[in-house]
Amino acid sequence: MDANEAKRGDMITVALAGNPNVGKSTLFNALTGLRQHTGNWTGKTVGCAEGICRRGEMPMRMVDLPGTYSLDATSEEERLAGDYIRSGEADVIAVVADGGCLSRNLILLLQILPLCERVVLCVNLLDEAEKKGVFVDCEKLSGLLGIPVVGMSARSERGIDEAVGVFETLPRRKESILIEGIPLAKQAEEIASAVVSGGGEISRSDRKWDRILLGKYTAFPLMLLMLSGILWLTAVGANVPSEALFWLFSRMEMGLRSILCWLGSPLWLSGILLDGIWRTVTWVVAVMLPPMAIFFPLFTLLEDLGVLPRVAFNLDRCFRSCDACGKQALTM
Ligand code: GDP
Repeated sequence: MDANEAKRGDMITVALAGNPNVGKSTLFNALTGLRQHTGNWTGKTVGCAEGICRRGEMPMRMVDLPGTYSLDATSEEERLAGDYIRSGEADVIAVVADGGCLSRNLILLLQILPLCERVVLCVNLLDEAEKKGVFVDCEKLSGLLGIPVVGMSARSERGIDEAVGVFETLPRRKESILIEGIPLAKQAEEIASAVVSGGGEISRSDRKWDRILLGKYTAFPLMLLMLSGILWLTAVGANVPSEALFWLFSRMEMGLRSILCWLGSPLWLSGILLDGIWRTVTWVVAVMLPPMAIFFPLFTLLEDLGVLPRVAFNLDRCFRSCDACGKQALTM
């Protein structure tokens, strides 16, 4: 049965909502067995992925909404996610949150709570949070929010079956826990500070890096230095391993040529094998492999260290002035 048949049938619909990069697609893939990737970058077509989850007692229709920080529409993806949640098409909204930065993620949850009677919070990336010494008391959080809270690490499938059980049996919520007159961001911060423990050391070191990488006088020189360094390493530094690979492949070619000669291979055959196939393939490998093996791991490292998001933040103003956004700096 595909998702369209499911829509017509009487199975419940669960929509996965949440900030970008909190693991919604990873959870969606684990639940449905599909291999969906919903990009969060500007320029990527936004849409909702749909699939069927058969992990529980009954099949459920799953909808993976685009990542959004808020339901106040400013971008196409936020509008799409907001419209879907308000439409009431989903029986259950599962808000996926990053356990490592709960207070920011709770703002979206607090916006969704008044719009849907069946909401469950999936606190994901707990493995990452725990590595940083951050612990989330999901039971207490559930008590404070008045909704079920499931702690999980979607990538290692921890907590997924528990979440499926909750989706199937979730009752309608009656009261609202929101306090009128207090900004949602403040309420989210208070709730998060009551249930999150540890992580103080990390945030202190984060603040130190923020002062350097986002500083008025240091941000742009450091960013230019770092990006020029990467560019230099990729364009010029990669020549060293490239030449080493050329040398290695030409030695191997000589060896292969003598083997073919010894086997008495005709000239046209060694021409096809060595001058045609071998040289083309090894040339491509020697030219392409070193820059890629330098550039991609370096970029991944900088992203994991939090340097690239800060670069995007620094450049946001410049990019906005030409109707783009800071995230596009990285693609450029
Ligand atoms: P989305 O933007 O919310 O759909 O997030 P994705 O599903 O694309 O996940 C963003 C990144 O987080 C990917 O690199 C995932 O592999 C990673 N990720 C997702 N869930 C987990 C998890 O539970 N633990 C860890 N360590 N990484 C995760």
